[in-house]
Amino acid sequence: MVPRTSRSSAGTGGDRVNRAAGSGGSVVVDRCQVCDNADLEPIVFVGFLPPVNTFVPIGTRPAEQPSYPAQLLRCPRCELVQLGLIVDPAILFPPSYAYTSGTTRILRENFAELEKEATPLLGLRRDDLVVDIGSNDGTLLKNFQRAGNRVVGIEPTDVGKTADASGIPTITAFFDAASADDVVKRYGRAKLVTATNVFAHIEDIHSIVDALLRLLDEDGVFISESHYWVGLMGTLQYDTIYHEHLRYYSLTSLRNLLAMHGLEVFHARAIPTHGGSIRVYAARRGKRKVTPSVDTYLADEREALAPSRLDAFRSGVVASKLKLYRLLDEVSGGGSRIYGIGAPSRAATMVSYVGLDDGIVSSILEIAGSHKIGKYMPGTLIPVVDEEQLFVDQPECALLFSWHIADELIPKLRGRGYRGRFIVPLPEPRLAQ
Ligand SMILES: [Zn+2]
Repeated sequence: MVPRTSRSSAGTGGDRVNRAAGSGGSVVVDRCQVCDNADLEPIVFVGFLPPVNTFVPIGTRPAEQPSYPAQLLRCPRCELVQLGLIVDPAILFPPSYAYTSGTTRILRENFAELEKEATPLLGLRRDDLVVDIGSNDGTLLKNFQRAGNRVVGIEPTDVGKTADASGIPTITAFFDAASADDVVKRYGRAKLVTATNVFAHIEDIHSIVDALLRLLDEDGVFISESHYWVGLMGTLQYDTIYHEHLRYYSLTSLRNLLAMHGLEVFHARAIPTHGGSIRVYAARRGKRKVTPSVDTYLADEREALAPSRLDAFRSGVVASKLKLYRLLDEVSGGGSRIYGIGAPSRAATMVSYVGLDDGIVSSILEIAGSHKIGKYMPGTLIPVVDEEQLFVDQPECALLFSWHIADELIPKLRGRGYRGRFIVPLPEPRLAQ
């Protein structure tokens, strides 16, 4: 991993910020990643978390393992919510890391809908270039390709090669000034650049926006989709706090960041992906007509981001944790076996913060083919096994770690013959039939 050395052109004082990339460890965030304010306020602390993608084989004797503090901080100047520690991506994304976005129905539908919304709103024409940052398996770009646009993906992991082989031109690289220039040289400037669920993950955010500007046509549009902080707060999603997620955006904070680079937000909409996200459209200032959606969200956020709401979030998280523990106690006290369903990154935070171990949750199930099968859940001795075991063992209870897609999962598992009950842990821990 090469340390990012490029510095912001926005005059944010980025030179003073230490970089975790290439450090082999972590750096404490003592200044706002966007506006450089040193006065950051604590929101909530969910303890020390092991890296969420560190899975060791079942049977391995527990050995020394790093874990990293996870505290959320708020910047009162630009409203950015951010993690108080940045971990070297080489630790967070080991070579075994693999995630494909084509797998959940909500994501596939969202990307299809994105194309349907964006094309008329932007006046995209056939042959206009669409570039996706962190394009993964090409699921998003397929929709634009079908509509007749030229498409290019930029993806650092090997999954991009699979997309390329399946007909979605993909450059294997991290997104930065060099890969942006590479696209411009080979394909020209982009009318549309998309970044879904990646804009919160990259350390040096100002250099990313600078690179984006190199890639974007004069009247081009940038669409980002990120976890929506206001929604996360409302549904007590402490389980989205882990070290891959460096920033948690509201429209207010994202607009402040983009404005530092001459970009103007002109449209916004909440969408259901990842348990609640926001899709934000931006262009160079004055290039696009601003829709009323922007003022509506900003007005709502003035209330939603008030400090009293943060206090309510903190106490709500604690109450939710205690209630989940009581529910698990009630269920297992009656002799029921509890299996976990799914081991996404958010499961690791819940396991760690709530304090689940193999005495409470006997095993966690993953779909066949998952590289997590045959390993322990990070920081525990809970084995991850093939989902098929659910139907063979028929445990009395199944704890849904991917609770945000419970409506998709429950009928699917019922249809395949699971007869026990479900525990939905958030936002209100409850039993479901
Ligand atoms: Zn700030």
